[in-house]
Amino acid sequence: MRGRDDIETIGVVGAGTMGSGIAQVAATAGFDVLMRDVERRFVDAGFGRIDDSLDRQVERDTLDRAAGDAARERIEGTTDLGSLADADFVIEAVVEDVEVKREVFADLDDLVAEGVVLATNTSTLSITTIAAATDRPELVVGLHFMNPVPVMEGVEVVVGEKTAAEVTVLAHSLAETLGKTTWEADDKPGFVTNRILMPWINEGIRAVDEGVAAKEDIDRGMKLGTNVPMGPLELADHIGLDVCLHASETLHEELGDRYKPAYLLKRKVEAGDLGKKTGRGFYEYGGE
Ligand code: NAD
Repeated sequence: MRGRDDIETIGVVGAGTMGSGIAQVAATAGFDVLMRDVERRFVDAGFGRIDDSLDRQVERDTLDRAAGDAARERIEGTTDLGSLADADFVIEAVVEDVEVKREVFADLDDLVAEGVVLATNTSTLSITTIAAATDRPELVVGLHFMNPVPVMEGVEVVVGEKTAAEVTVLAHSLAETLGKTTWEADDKPGFVTNRILMPWINEGIRAVDEGVAAKEDIDRGMKLGTNVPMGPLELADHIGLDVCLHASETLHEELGDRYKPAYLLKRKVEAGDLGKKTGRGFYEYGGE
């Protein structure tokens, strides 16, 4: 297996919200990064988010300009999956669709050198199911970053049925090198975070729909009453209502009725009100 000291280049598949954030923290930690998406416009959008985020860090004095510029230089964008052949460790962050992820893993397995670990940033899908698309299931592990990646400290390491013990150790160690703090979960639906978070969000949505309180009061009540930084509806808008619905549906399928997505969540997604990213979810967001 390619160990921690052998890793110079990290491949990131998917340049979306999470992939661009992962590319940014990897480059800031000194790794060369190959960031791949299916179309040039998605790669460019990923770079746009990275530039904005690095600028904010420089403005807040948490990064100096030269270090930010050097990190940016270390990231190479591509639409060619073949470029990832040079990666020493790969982190996948494509859409949360098991068939798409299995296809990406099968392609990566053919492409990258023997002994290279393939990690997935999936929020709810089974690591074991994704790993089974490869001939190296022992080298597949979950590395579940939180959103926004450059800001959130936690990373959940998820251990698949076949994940080798040294791969789990490497996943923790790499995440720590990226400045993160880790915890470990077994490959059970939703792992620790989403298994507990999604019912909380859905209950908040049902509470609006059933007239328990106004949305602002539900969020205020949970923030002030339980000392969390965001209430369930604000957080749902932040994550993306489509992402929440998808995660809830996966958990519902795997774990039964207690995970049934709220009716109002489905209705909002059908209407295209996906939260902050579309300018409207439970709240309205003006401009950028
Ligand atoms: P996103 O929609 O912002 O980005 C996904 C990107 O993957 C898109 O740019 C898309 O073009 C690209 N893509 C699709 N197929 C691809 C392929 N075959 N090769 C390369 N790129 C491909 O989604 P996101 O929010 O960044 O989520 C990505 C993953 O991270 C999902 O598995 C999601 O569950 C997980 N995740 C998301 C969050 C969150 O809050 N958004 C948090 C933790 C984990």
